[in-house]
Amino acid sequence: MINFTVGPVMISKEILEIGGQQVPYFRTAEFSEVMFENEKLMNKFAKAPTDSRTVFITGSGTAAMEAAVMNVFDKYDKVLIVDGGSFGHRFVQLCEIHQIPYEIVVPEEGCSITKKQLSNFDNKDFTGFLVNLDETSKGVLYDIDVISDFCRRNDLFLVVDSISSFLCDEFDMDKLNVQVMITGSQKALACPPGVSMIVLSPQAVERVCSKKVESMYFDLKSALKNGERGQTPFTPAVGILLQINARLRQIEKNGGVDQEIMHTASIAKDFRSKIERLPFEITSKSLSNAVTPLHPLNGSAYDIFKRLKNEYGIWVCPNGGELSEKVFRVGHIGCLTFEDNDKLIEAFEDMQRRNLI
Ligand SMILES: *Cc1c(COP(=O)(O)O)cnc(C)c1O
Repeated sequence: MINFTVGPVMISKEILEIGGQQVPYFRTAEFSEVMFENEKLMNKFAKAPTDSRTVFITGSGTAAMEAAVMNVFDKYDKVLIVDGGSFGHRFVQLCEIHQIPYEIVVPEEGCSITKKQLSNFDNKDFTGFLVNLDETSKGVLYDIDVISDFCRRNDLFLVVDSISSFLCDEFDMDKLNVQVMITGSQKALACPPGVSMIVLSPQAVERVCSKKVESMYFDLKSALKNGERGQTPFTPAVGILLQINARLRQIEKNGGVDQEIMHTASIAKDFRSKIERLPFEITSKSLSNAVTPLHPLNGSAYDIFKRLKNEYGIWVCPNGGELSEKVFRVGHIGCLTFEDNDKLIEAFEDMQRRNLI
């Protein structure tokens, strides 16, 4: 099986082997050391300001999105949400549930949000901004510089869901004045799903500590407190945290986050050059290195997904809802090689010979 979805993704042999071992008891000095290192490397790779903190939530990316929303905003805030696809819309639903006043800004189909669009929201009474840097459902990477400028100008607390762009696209939390960055274990970190991370700037830590949260599991104050001794409030996904540790160390050893981003970019670029001669149209005008959304000029996108899976053992990522027949996505994250790209291209060529695309 070759997996080109956007998560869970292909896991390297070294990381897979850790998953096959017994899971250790975790209230130990040894596990605390692992967690200290995880936090240190996460802060480093996010390029977070000095004294930032990372908390590890056992739960998928959405758990971290919800925890972030609950712990930094409340009914006295008013946030602007980029509602450009299913993940952007998830922030809208979270603000509804937690009764946080919000407005939305909707980008043009396949495009980033623009400076001009944001300028309509200048000098209003907003206090925060929520965005998914790469709107994975559409494969659209937003222009974070434009967003960061807007937030600085209007003194907004910027929360960025980088779940699919972390380790794929350039990102500097400190320079961009991002207060909260969210990511998860099953995207470019290429570990099993189950753990999500929230990187908090010192300003965000202060805000979290001053806020009352009506939740036990999602109260980040206790996660921060326990993190001071390399622990979590409740039993975490210990095995996955060990896999995350090995993966973070691997990235560090191979030259760090910039090197990792360059690698993902090279896999994406290789695929995009090879797909040019095939009957597909790239539907995003602002691509992330994480994923390429494709519209087949002949045939149904969902049929292509099913055939690739059933007849070729290759998984691409189908789209949901109204796009399911029109668009599928090819991910470039996880343990993929140029040869894997060739195999997918060969499968497309074979389908072309069979008049299926
Ligand atoms: C994958 C992803 C999520 C999280 O989804 P989960 O299924 O909860 O892990 C959130 N936001 C973005 C942009 C994503 O790509």
